[in-house]
Amino acid sequence: MAKKMKYTSTRGDKKSKRLTASQSVLKGIADDGGLYVPRKIPQAYLTPGVLSGFNYNAHALWLMGHYFKNDYTPAELVKCIDSAYNSKNFSSPSIVDVKEVGSAAFLELYHGKTLAFKDMALSLLPHLMSAALKKTQKPKTQVILTATSGDTGVSALEGFKDVDGTKIIVFYPENGVSVIQKQHMITQTGGNVHVVGVRGNFDDAQSEVKRIFLDDRINKQLNSDGYEFSSANSINTGRLIPQIVYYFYAYSQLVRGGMAIDAPVNFIVPTGNFGNILAGYYAKKMGLPINKLICASNENKVLFDYFDTGVFDSNREFYLTTSPSMDILIPSNFERLVYDLVQPEDGLREMLVKLSGKQKFSMPVPKDFVGYYATEQETRAAIKKVFDNHGYLIDTHTAVAYVAHEKYGERAGEKNVIVSTASPYKFAKTVMSSIDEKYDAYDDFALLEKMAELTNSIVPAPLAGLQGKEVLHPTVVDISGMKDAVLDWYKT
Ligand SMILES: *Cc1c(COP(=O)(O)O)cnc(C)c1O
Repeated sequence: MAKKMKYTSTRGDKKSKRLTASQSVLKGIADDGGLYVPRKIPQAYLTPGVLSGFNYNAHALWLMGHYFKNDYTPAELVKCIDSAYNSKNFSSPSIVDVKEVGSAAFLELYHGKTLAFKDMALSLLPHLMSAALKKTQKPKTQVILTATSGDTGVSALEGFKDVDGTKIIVFYPENGVSVIQKQHMITQTGGNVHVVGVRGNFDDAQSEVKRIFLDDRINKQLNSDGYEFSSANSINTGRLIPQIVYYFYAYSQLVRGGMAIDAPVNFIVPTGNFGNILAGYYAKKMGLPINKLICASNENKVLFDYFDTGVFDSNREFYLTTSPSMDILIPSNFERLVYDLVQPEDGLREMLVKLSGKQKFSMPVPKDFVGYYATEQETRAAIKKVFDNHGYLIDTHTAVAYVAHEKYGERAGEKNVIVSTASPYKFAKTVMSSIDEKYDAYDDFALLEKMAELTNSIVPAPLAGLQGKEVLHPTVVDISGMKDAVLDWYKT
């Protein structure tokens, strides 16, 4: 039989089970609490002549084939890719856009249904799961358990709603998401969806989701009822791998626009859970000529401090910022970087335990990365500056990356690509008040109209009708109530 790529847990040992890609997509997180990683990151030699002729979906098929070979058939992959990346789900005909603004380029990843980059992976993941379920002997209903800092929840709900064989429950920090994100989630339709607010921050909610996920008693109960847990969080390999695609796509678009084929590119990535930038790291390891991965943080700058000093320390004060999807102190995908850099005999296990337990540890800083952070004031100033100078509007997360772009600077022979992770419409309040304080007088929804006027565009369809929608999910619980929220709902 042809060889399939195998995936192992970051916390596994030699005896640990190796999974195929499709098995890892269903499983989400390993029994030992680790994340699945490919046994070996494949090489993908750029053939720019061909690549520059490929559209987004062709890039996706080509790139993902390296990870899913002989597991998902090419026909299955094509079906998944075309079900995800199409004109029904994305407002841009090219799915993602690369825009030159001044001397930098913006990689716009927000043309999906929920106007944020999470759609890139979450419109595909449900289809990868469906196809994976068909490969199993006794398929169980997948119960997707998700904690969100905002965008994941909205995007996962859209991706999974009414997908056969799945149910999804989303927990969001009651005071940690934007008004519009919250409205999106609590009005979400779909027969298989449930949304619950949590009195606590994102890290608390995510830690509790992890505990429920690994709870033996709950798992046994679900299994005997014909259900099993799965995760749509950014730790799932079915999210990580689709995210590698757009790094290659961005590069070939730049080559198409006249950039030399081996020219070094820096990607500046607004970072929270470290999933997006980790996909960039995989792209680099696969052979894409990336010079630096520039990790942009907001005031929750645990990653900046690590890249600056080599000491990783999550034990610190947590701030709510205007880039809420980056308000994270334990970036869960960082575990995959630690796994890649540290050998078992050099204390890998101890470091991973410290990482998830909020304990300080040191690790030599890889030269692939450099970190910067933006204060709230710098973020707002960046939004105004880019708009005043170029008439181009960016959201708060992208603005954090823009600040990092300026701090790194323009360096001879290097091209800076700013990864643009959300539409400015999604964070209209902060974006508009950054441009002119006269907008402070309006509420979030009125500001959508004002933004449309200012930019001579129209309010994106997914937001246009949000205000009047009926609230379907009013429930709010304490962290300690999350378990019961799952148990009371999954069979309904
Ligand atoms: C999720 C998100 C991020 C952070 O991405 P990670 O993969 O978690 O690092 C940045 N910006 C926006 C708009 C997001 O939704």
